[in-house]
Amino acid sequence: MHRHRKAWLKGDEFCCPTVPPECTRPFRLVLLGPPGVGKGTQAGLLCEELGACHLSTGDVFRAAQCEGKLTPALHKALAAMQRGELVSDEIVVEIVRERSGCLRCQGGFLLDGFPRTVCQAQALDQMLTEEGVALDGVLSYELPVEEVVSRISGRRICQDCKAIYHLQTKQPKIANQCDHCSGHLFQRDDDHPDAIRVRMQIYHESTAPLIDYYQKAGMLLPIAATGDPEDILHRSIDALNDRYAEIDRDKISRPAKTR
Ligand code: AMP
Repeated sequence: MHRHRKAWLKGDEFCCPTVPPECTRPFRLVLLGPPGVGKGTQAGLLCEELGACHLSTGDVFRAAQCEGKLTPALHKALAAMQRGELVSDEIVVEIVRERSGCLRCQGGFLLDGFPRTVCQAQALDQMLTEEGVALDGVLSYELPVEEVVSRISGRRICQDCKAIYHLQTKQPKIANQCDHCSGHLFQRDDDHPDAIRVRMQIYHESTAPLIDYYQKAGMLLPIAATGDPEDILHRSIDALNDRYAEIDRDKISRPAKTR
């Protein structure tokens, strides 16, 4: 199910054009995982499956790049992002706080890219308490570093239409040429193996402590991110079923696409 996410992308003073139908069991989840693990793909599949809204802080920043008028917080966030740095905790929390109505949305949510640090996770806990809702679980996608490097370093992008290919798993029909628009395929600078190792290092330093945080809170659901996206989705749904059985809620029945 596709959601407009206007309130999330633009801020709480905007309303989404369609309110998600009230469901008996809104899913309120966080997705964690290193770059290249396929978290974005899983977010899309899980949203379809669970009917929840995909709330990505990266998407908020990318949408803001197309806006003429920015709040001071968004202005600072974009400057940090363009330098290839993480946005400061203070600014990210402020931006999410401006959208905290999305956390109590009756359709539920999948947070992707937030929280990224323990400080952000603590702020999220506080916002959820203020909104009167609770997190149901944290899906943590895991993949050995060498597999991450191989996955990302094979990625190629069309310079014109931005379609994504992979040298091993999704080859274009003609080498280095986009199937859709014949544009030239290139490799992003940060997709080179050395750059990937640096990104993994940053992930381990700032984001991996979150795994400990959510483990201690009894929220963590580790998912092996090997195999194709459907396999990973099945594992995610199974883990959620176990989690919901644990917290004494209804089981997810597949397929749930009718919601
Ligand atoms: P993403 O699409 O999640 O990879 O985010 C793209 C960029 O946005 C990141 O490289 C950061 O510069 C910034 N960003 C997104 N979410 C956060 C966050 N929770 N904390 C800090 N920086 C973030």
